[in-house]
Amino acid sequence: MNVIIVGAGIAGLSLSVRLALQGHTVTVFEAAPGPGGKLSELRNGGYRFDRGPSLFTMPQYVNALFELAGKNPEDHFQYKQLDCLCHYFYADGSRFRSYADREQMRNELQQVLQTDPDAFFSYLEKSRKIYDLIGSLFMEQSLDPGNFINGKTLRALLHLPVYGLNSTMHDTHEKMFSDKRLVQYFDRYATYNGSDPYQAPAMLRIIPHIEHGIGAYFPVKGMYAITESIYNLALELGVKFQFNTAVDEITVSGKRATGVRCGTVTHTADVVVSNMDITPTYRKLLPHVPHPEKLLQQEKSSSALVFYWGIAHSFPELGLHNIFFAADYKAEFTSIFRDKKLFADPTVYINITSKENAADAPAGGENWFVMINVPRHEGQNWDEEKRKARAFILEKLRKHLHTDPEPFIETEDSWTPQGIEQLTSSAGGSLYGNSSNSKYAAFLRQRNQSKSIPNLYFCGGSVHPGGGIPLCLLSAQITAGLIEKNVPQ
Ligand code: FAD
Repeated sequence: MNVIIVGAGIAGLSLSVRLALQGHTVTVFEAAPGPGGKLSELRNGGYRFDRGPSLFTMPQYVNALFELAGKNPEDHFQYKQLDCLCHYFYADGSRFRSYADREQMRNELQQVLQTDPDAFFSYLEKSRKIYDLIGSLFMEQSLDPGNFINGKTLRALLHLPVYGLNSTMHDTHEKMFSDKRLVQYFDRYATYNGSDPYQAPAMLRIIPHIEHGIGAYFPVKGMYAITESIYNLALELGVKFQFNTAVDEITVSGKRATGVRCGTVTHTADVVVSNMDITPTYRKLLPHVPHPEKLLQQEKSSSALVFYWGIAHSFPELGLHNIFFAADYKAEFTSIFRDKKLFADPTVYINITSKENAADAPAGGENWFVMINVPRHEGQNWDEEKRKARAFILEKLRKHLHTDPEPFIETEDSWTPQGIEQLTSSAGGSLYGNSSNSKYAAFLRQRNQSKSIPNLYFCGGSVHPGGGIPLCLLSAQITAGLIEKNVPQ
C-alpha cells in the first residue's frame, strides 16, 4: 500500500520504519527543514543543545525498531544507564542526589536528607506493583473496547481502591510521607507528562518506577541521536521524506482518506496517518469532517519556557539533571493550570548534557538547558513573560549556587509556548497533548484509528497512549499493528 505520514516527529519516524518493514511504500511530509519535531537540536557558538526532551527512559522501544529490521541496535544507537538520576535543591536549603542504585539512594536519604528511607522504598515498591498491574494494559494496546473486556482489566479495576488510585497523586503522597520534601519529590513526577499533582490521579504513580526501577538513560551523543538514528534507519528502508512541505489538507472522499494536499499539489494514498497534534489535525487539515469537540476541548498539558544558555564556566555541584524546587509547589501549579500565569518562584530544571558528552560545549564551558513549566499559549505576551522568567530564574540560581551565572552566559536562545506551537503545531505549545489531570484522561485520548474514516490513523504525543518519547514510540507500534490488521487481503 501507499502510505502518507504527516509529520516527522519521533512517532511519525518510527511508524515509517515499521510500515516500510511491513512492505508499504511510505512518504513522510514534514513542514520543518528536518526530522524530529520536539526532539530536534540547536547549535549556537560551539554549544549544542537538545531542543526539547532531556530525560530518556525505556530505550528498549528504540532498540525494538532496529531489531525488527534485523540489525544490532548497538551498531546504530548507543546509550548508557545513569547512576545519578538527578540533583535536587529545596527551597529550605537542603539538597540531595537521587540514585538508581538502592544502597546509594538509601545512604543519600539517611545521611544527606536525613529522612526515612523505608517510606521511600515502600513507595517505589507500590509504584512497581501498579506498573505491573496497569502499565502494559494502557500503554501497549489500542483503545478498542474489546481490548479492555478481559480478566486483566477486571483485576486492575478491582485493585484501584487497594492502591488508593481513586485519589490524587498529592493526597496519596501527603498520607504516605511525613517529610514534605519527599511529598514534593514524588509530586514532581506528575510533570513528566505535563500534569498537576494536585489534580492528577494516583495512577501516575507508575512513573517513579519507570525512572527508579526500570532506569533513566542518556544517549551518548545526546537526545537528538534518537531522532537521527531512527531517521537514518527509515532512509535505509526506502522511506521518502519531503521536508519544508506542510500538508494543508487531508483529502477525503465519502468515508475514505484519499491523500493529502500541499498548497496546490495533491498526493494520493491508500492510507494517511497524522503525526501532527490532534487539535490542528482536525481544525486545519480536516475542516469538512465532524470534529470530536469534547476531546479537542479537554484541558491541555502544561507548556514550557526554555532558555538555552552557553555558559563559559563550570559548576561542579551540578549534574546532567538538576531541579531547584519552588517553595510553594501548590501555588505554582495553581498559577499554571488555573490562573494560566507565570509563577514568580518557579521550579527550575537545568539539563547539562556536556556533563556526559564533553563535545556539547567548548572546553571549560557547559550547555545549560534551563526550563520552567508554564501555561499553554493563550495570547500571553511571551517577550514580556520571558523577561520576567529570566529574572526569577537567575535570582533563584544565585541563591542556591552562591555564584551569579549571568556573567557567564556566552550564548543565549529561548523557546516559548508560542514558539513551540509555531515550530511543531502542538496546540498552545502543550508538551504532551491533553493533560492527565483527570482519572479518565487515559481513556479519553484520540484513538489511533479514525472511527468515521477507517483508512485514517493518528500517532504521536497528543493521541493514545500519550506524550513523551516512550509513549510516542508505542503509539507508532499500536498504529502499525492496526494498519497491518486492516490491510485488504
Ligand atoms: P512532534 O515532536 O510534536 O512533531 C510533530 C511534527 O509534525 C513536527 O516535526 C511538525 O513540524 C510536523 N507537522 C506538524 N504539522 C504539519 C503539517 N501540517 N504538515 C507537515 N508536517 C507537520 N518527552 C520525554 O520523553 N522526556 C522529556 O524529558 C521531555 N521533555 C520535553 C521538553 C520540552 C521542552 C518539550 C517541547 C517536549 C518534551 N517531551 C519530553 C515531550 C516529547 O518531546 C514529545 O512527547 C514527543 O517528542 C512528541 O513527538 P511526536 O511524534 O508527537 O511529534
